[in-house]
Amino acid sequence: MKQVIVAGAGISGLTAARILAESGYQVTILEKRSHIGGNVYDYFYSGVLVHKYGPHLFHTKMRHVAEFLQRFSGFFPYEHRVLGEVRGKLVPIPFNYKSIDELYPPKQAEHLKQVLSEAYKDGDSVPIMELRRHKDPEVKALAEFVFQNVFYGYTKKQWGKPPEEMSSSVMGRVPVRMSYDDRYFTDEFQMMPEQGYTVMMERMAGHRNIAVRCECEALSCLSVQDGQVYFDGERFDGPVIYTGCIDELFGYRYGRLPYRSLDFVLERRNVTQAQPVVQINYPNRFVYTRTSEFKLVQKEKLEGRTILVYEYPKECTQEDIPYYPVESEKCMNVYQKYKLLAERTANLHILGRLGEYKYYNMDVSVDRAMKLAEKVIEKL
Ligand code: UDP
Repeated sequence: MKQVIVAGAGISGLTAARILAESGYQVTILEKRSHIGGNVYDYFYSGVLVHKYGPHLFHTKMRHVAEFLQRFSGFFPYEHRVLGEVRGKLVPIPFNYKSIDELYPPKQAEHLKQVLSEAYKDGDSVPIMELRRHKDPEVKALAEFVFQNVFYGYTKKQWGKPPEEMSSSVMGRVPVRMSYDDRYFTDEFQMMPEQGYTVMMERMAGHRNIAVRCECEALSCLSVQDGQVYFDGERFDGPVIYTGCIDELFGYRYGRLPYRSLDFVLERRNVTQAQPVVQINYPNRFVYTRTSEFKLVQKEKLEGRTILVYEYPKECTQEDIPYYPVESEKCMNVYQKYKLLAERTANLHILGRLGEYKYYNMDVSVDRAMKLAEKVIEKL
């Protein structure tokens, strides 16, 4: 049987593994944690299903991605809504017409919405850095308000840098919305796995051609030298899909690629519901960026008890979990060097947020893994 090795049992690795297994490959997955699922892993804490590595709310425009995941779990419709604390009020994020209504006196709010509707089409999503460059002084003034009150403090906490030093792709993830649509995402498919991600991922891994080795550091049995992959001390010529940090794979020879990491602090509260929505952002107060009340995602019927999770961003040291690649130009140049090295090994495929050093959402990770698996299969 054709053998394939996948390093990492996150959403990228498992998606690729499943497709390859179904086409007749014997897949060995090496996973350093004691559980599968990577950062989408969820678990029960005090009776509440908590996303251990931060909120993962599924949304996609890609029907094939939604359908692929639906093979492994039932899903229920879920539209994420976020409030942000601005001037002592909780207002919808992304900043939209509703946020204007809540922050300004009625006459001024009407006027501002009128100005915006003349400058943009109804429903437009405008990145904050673009809005700040608008010629109309009233649009510019509003943009400045949103920049200062929604983006500046949050971004400083999250990335350790102000928004001006961030890439447009990161700052454009949460645009200003020229409508009353207060959903966090606008994709066609917005849904959550009925029993959580871990159950879904376990089903994905549950194939007779897939063997998962948990608590196995991939690089303790896998190495790349002179265009060859070695596995358990022997040359391995089958496909190898690597979803870990690419700089680690190559012994950090061009230096470390920086990441941002997070500390999660869980708090048990003896109330049925602690906050009005699943997620509240605090751009202007506290050291943490946001709080999540996961119980409200699953609509769990649990009286008098809930769990709040606080997120404290930090620089990622060797001991920390890498969550967010820092996609600055300088870092991308270093990444390119690692990528070129990887390309010298024909049977080595780099995949996922850590491997490709890209701030992918779950759906993009699944899509890329599906495409890579198909490419590997076609090569035969
Ligand atoms: N952001 C912000 N204020 C907010 C929400 C987001 O400044 O209230 C910025 C911040 O830089 C953040 C980025 O937008 O890192 C992307 O936010 P998103 O909610 O997509 O982050 P994720 O959920 O992936 O951590």
